[in-house]
Amino acid sequence: MTPASLPNWLDPEQWLPNTESTDKNAIRSAILSENPTERELALMLSPAAGEFLELMAQRAQAITRRHFGRTISLYTPLYLSNFCNGGCLYCGIAGDRRAKRAVLDETQLRHEMQAIQKMHFEELVLLTGERMPEADVPYLRDSIAVAAEYIHNVNIEVFPMAESEYRTLAEAGCTGMTVYQETYDQTVYEKMHRWGDKRDFFSRLNAPDRALRGGLRTVGIGALLGLADPKFDMLCVYRHAKYLQKNYWQAGVSVSFPRIRPQLGGFAADHPVDEKMLAQFIFALRICLPEIPLVLSTREAPRVRDGMAGLGISKMSIASKTTVGGYSGDSEESTEQFSISDERNIPEFCNMLCAKGLEPVFKNWDSTYRDPAHYEKP
Ligand code: SF4
Repeated sequence: MTPASLPNWLDPEQWLPNTESTDKNAIRSAILSENPTERELALMLSPAAGEFLELMAQRAQAITRRHFGRTISLYTPLYLSNFCNGGCLYCGIAGDRRAKRAVLDETQLRHEMQAIQKMHFEELVLLTGERMPEADVPYLRDSIAVAAEYIHNVNIEVFPMAESEYRTLAEAGCTGMTVYQETYDQTVYEKMHRWGDKRDFFSRLNAPDRALRGGLRTVGIGALLGLADPKFDMLCVYRHAKYLQKNYWQAGVSVSFPRIRPQLGGFAADHPVDEKMLAQFIFALRICLPEIPLVLSTREAPRVRDGMAGLGISKMSIASKTTVGGYSGDSEESTEQFSISDERNIPEFCNMLCAKGLEPVFKNWDSTYRDPAHYEKP
């Protein structure tokens, strides 16, 4: 398969030549455009646009302030299980790694939730590997129900599933899901995913549709930067986000910018994305997707996160643990999926935001407006 066999709504081929443009006048006009489209995005992704990084930063910051104020929404991830038989080359807990495996039982999950609740988070992402007997839909359903006793917004970053399964999770209290396509380049996708369910490119691609039809309200998408040509992947992420906005207008769509991180297995990126390129991509997406939350996790180093906060990025994770039982220490030692770079605690991180004139936001007002009864916690 080649990228050319992507569905029409996703295929960015028409605009790929613009990502190699050296026309500085066209690039400057794209950055300043009042109604930027895919044409302008492709120009802003070009290496030549790197010269205009300051101008892009100014535009991105102004747009971010207009739509999100001076706030940064905060959330934290919680690994339920690191059991996985997937064959992803870039992952520290792939099936062929000598990883220490663990899965939280209900008591351990409650300890984790109590630890997270003390940190005042109101948004959480529950993570697992691929579908496994240790962590299948019934386990997820029960874990979501427990987590929802402690926190308003319970999201998942797990394996693609059927619409009916998403509905089961929505009924248990799940509000949203994230699924990174990893790469939209099908040739690279096939190489990176050596075996397992994840080899099904289109099942993954269509998972956000099934989740929204199943009753979840938000979806997060993204590409794992470094696997394939990042300019191609960024154009596809843009197209995917626009498609979801158009077809599910009531849904919330967010975009993340994960980069390959060191992990057990030692995979190195074929298409490394340096910090300057990452900044350029974030600014370009912000200019072209003004109202969509853009997310940056603790995969990135403090200097990168500090620099991007409010300059396009509107949502960040903090105090993240990428091991199972990492918050309460209430589980046997387990292997992390990847190393995090920003290990600051909440006060340190919030102090940094305040020093930049930004307000950390733990509260997710959306759940209050959606269902006041849900806000009355026991
Ligand atoms: S990326 Fe996900 S599916 Fe792939 S090996 Fe890692 S945990 Fe499993």
